[in-house]
Amino acid sequence: MYRFIALSAPSGAGKTTIANRLIQRNKDLVISVSATTRTKRPGEKHGVDYFFMTASDFESNIRDHKFLEYEQVHGNYYGTLRPVVDDLIRKGRRIVFDIDVKGALSIRKAFPDESLLIFIQAPSIEELKKRLRKRRSESEETIELRFRRIDFEISQSRYFDHIIINDSLERTVEKIEALIHSNGSM
Ligand code: ADP
Ligand code: 5GP
Repeated sequence: MYRFIALSAPSGAGKTTIANRLIQRNKDLVISVSATTRTKRPGEKHGVDYFFMTASDFESNIRDHKFLEYEQVHGNYYGTLRPVVDDLIRKGRRIVFDIDVKGALSIRKAFPDESLLIFIQAPSIEELKKRLRKRRSESEETIELRFRRIDFEISQSRYFDHIIINDSLERTVEKIEALIHSNGSM
C-alpha cells in the first residue's frame, strides 16, 4: 500500500489546493509539514503551512541531520523534517508531501516500495502563469523566479509514476484518490 504520496508541480499548478482537499476528504491522509526559510504569505500559520525558520536555524538543523531531505527552491531552503515523518509513521498515518521534484525523488529513495509520485500540471503554460498571478502571494520578482524553474520541473515529470492535468479541481482530486487507493488498500 502507498504510505508516502509525493505531489509535485510547477509553482501555481494547484498542488497545495489539491493536497488540502485530499486531506479534508480522506481522514487516513495527513500532510507532512515542511520547514522553510521563505517568508510567510498572508494567512499562513507556523506549524500548519510550514515551520518558518531563519537560514541559520535551517542550516543548524541540516548539521544535526534533522532533514529526511532538503532542497533550495526559488532561492529558499525547503525541507522535510525527520521527526515529523517519524511521528506520523509511528501513528500509522499515510503521508502526503507537497514537495519539489527533487524532493519527491528523495522520498521514493527513502521508501522505495511504498511511495507514489504524482506530478501535477496545469492545462497550459498560460493557465499556469495566470493561476500563479491570481494567487497574489508573490512579487513580480519572485513570480519570475518561479517561472524560470518551470522547464526543469516539467523535464523531471518523466520520473514520476503518474502525470495529472489539473483542469477541474474536483476531477483531479478524484483521480488522485483513485491512484492512492489503487493498491488494494481500501
Ligand atoms: P501550488 O501549490 O501548486 O503552487 P496553489 O494550490 O497555490 O498552487 O494554486 C495556485 C492558484 O491556482 C490558486 O489561486 C488556486 O486557487 C488556483 N487553482 C488551483 N487549482 C485550480 C483549478 N483546477 N482550476 C483553477 N484554479 C485553480
Ligand atoms: P511554496 O513556496 O510555493 O510553498 O513552495 C515552493 C516549492 O517548494 C514547491 O514546489 C513545494 O512543493 C516545494 N516544497 C515545499 N516543501 C518542501 C520540502 O519539504 N522539500 C522539498 N524538497 N520541497 C518542498
